[in-house]
Amino acid sequence: MDETTAHITAQAIRKTEEITAHCVLTQRPAPCALVIFGASGDLTARKLMPALYNLACNGGLPEAYTITGAARTDLSTDQFRTRMREAMSTQDNFDTALWDQIESRLFYQQLDYDESQGFGALKTMLDNQREEFSTRDNRIFYLATPPTVYEAIATRLGQVGLTHEKASSFARIVVEKPFGRDLPSARHLDITLDAHFAEHQIFRIDHYLAKETIQNILMFRFANSIFEPVWNRQYIEYVTCASSEQLGVEHRAGYYEQAGVLRDMFQNHMMQILALVAAEPPSLFAADRVRDEKSKVYRSLRPFAPERLRDDLILGQYGPGTMNGKAVLGYRQEPDVAPNSKTPTFAMMRVWVDNWRWQGVPFHIMSGKRLREKITRIVVQFREVPHSMFRDVLGQDIAGNRLVMDIHPENSISLTFQTKAPGAKPCLSPVTMSFDFATGSGEGLDAYEKVLLDCMLGDQMLFWRQDSVELCWGFLTPILELCEECGDVREHLHPYSAGSWGPPPALEMVNTLF
Ligand code: NDP
Repeated sequence: MDETTAHITAQAIRKTEEITAHCVLTQRPAPCALVIFGASGDLTARKLMPALYNLACNGGLPEAYTITGAARTDLSTDQFRTRMREAMSTQDNFDTALWDQIESRLFYQQLDYDESQGFGALKTMLDNQREEFSTRDNRIFYLATPPTVYEAIATRLGQVGLTHEKASSFARIVVEKPFGRDLPSARHLDITLDAHFAEHQIFRIDHYLAKETIQNILMFRFANSIFEPVWNRQYIEYVTCASSEQLGVEHRAGYYEQAGVLRDMFQNHMMQILALVAAEPPSLFAADRVRDEKSKVYRSLRPFAPERLRDDLILGQYGPGTMNGKAVLGYRQEPDVAPNSKTPTFAMMRVWVDNWRWQGVPFHIMSGKRLREKITRIVVQFREVPHSMFRDVLGQDIAGNRLVMDIHPENSISLTFQTKAPGAKPCLSPVTMSFDFATGSGEGLDAYEKVLLDCMLGDQMLFWRQDSVELCWGFLTPILELCEECGDVREHLHPYSAGSWGPPPALEMVNTLF
């Protein structure tokens, strides 16, 4: 490398480092007390505590904070601290000095959701923390429990006066999916939360939204002038959004038997991806402006008439098969799954967005378990050129351009276009231009770190708003009812082998991913 190139490269690296440092943390949250309900569970040990620890590592926690675990399990604060230390000590490069600091602000309150007594004790604990740790009256209540107790928690918090906000303080509630299991139950949950919290206090998490590459979709579309003019029915032939898993139902059969793939993946993550690809440009990069545009997409979804079920919805269920060289059970053989279960573990849906921009462009939305590879990918397939002057000379059809956004496990964007293949004979060859986030601008925040940070900062951009939740349920509930009521469709739940790419009728659409 000559001196000038080395200088330019060094400048570019410095610039990237500056941008990264600026992007990772822009603002330190105000002091607050975080309370995690269901703190004896898996989510707390596996996701929330590591996320809080990592935020502490890079200065993302407030200067003054406390973390209080609350659950029915009878634990003392010391026992809770020991549990959390054990769970955390498996972290890479675990910093015991840093953990000691966090641990000194970690507390536990045993309570029952049916009684106010434990909630009264929690309030006293938080009042004491305000005096001792200067957490002010800022409180965040994270519901890491099954949704069946959301109502009881919100009600008890209201009863003991913990939901009230003063001009200089906040009280926020963080709710994990699922937000109901159909439109009526989503509305019921909302009425319950609404009785004690205003919409600006409710943070409905979709941790998918907090992934860097998902957040990038809006940046990519609206910070580059070259893509937006072609992002419509005139240039785009179809869009495919897919999230495939290699995992089966694991230990979650109790939940999954009731949910199935449509409730588990479509009502939340897949609908969010669809909205980000299809939304109109918001006038401002602000939570409600962006969420307004998403809601407009959901409002434009063409309802599923019964006669469309056969053409536009393919459901499947995995049977026994081979994954990575190992034999695996079929869904019906998994522990706690009914031997005649009709729960779909795969769905491919053709969705139409009935507005000016997207008229006639199909969106293929696909998700499933026990599929060959784990990928989350968006494919935007552009139309072929309107007239090919090369067809007669070259005897070749020219494939349209294709934009692929890989969200997981790859984090990349690639664009495929045609070039002249080298040689005397005129010949076209598709080539791909790629950007890999790993080689881009350093590491971002993990999804739960981002979610917790935004919640402390009060930024609702990455959280579901109630109108969107209801619009999506409004779209999906009739489909779920048709599937559940209509024996005909149920009988056509297509089996597929674990380790394959899904049921044969879906393969044509699945192929659009590659
Ligand atoms: P768990 O099943 O581990 O439950 C968490 C805690 O809730 C338990 O330790 C238990 O604490 C309490 N609990 C369990 N059942 C009941 C009940 N019937 N009534 C009252 N309390 C109960 O859940 P997770 O930690 O895995 O998840 C928590 C929430 O987050 C769930 O809503 C889940 O859907 C969601 N989620 C979880 C993810 C994960 O990776 N784990 C990912 C995405 C979402 P105790 O008995 O001490 O009260």
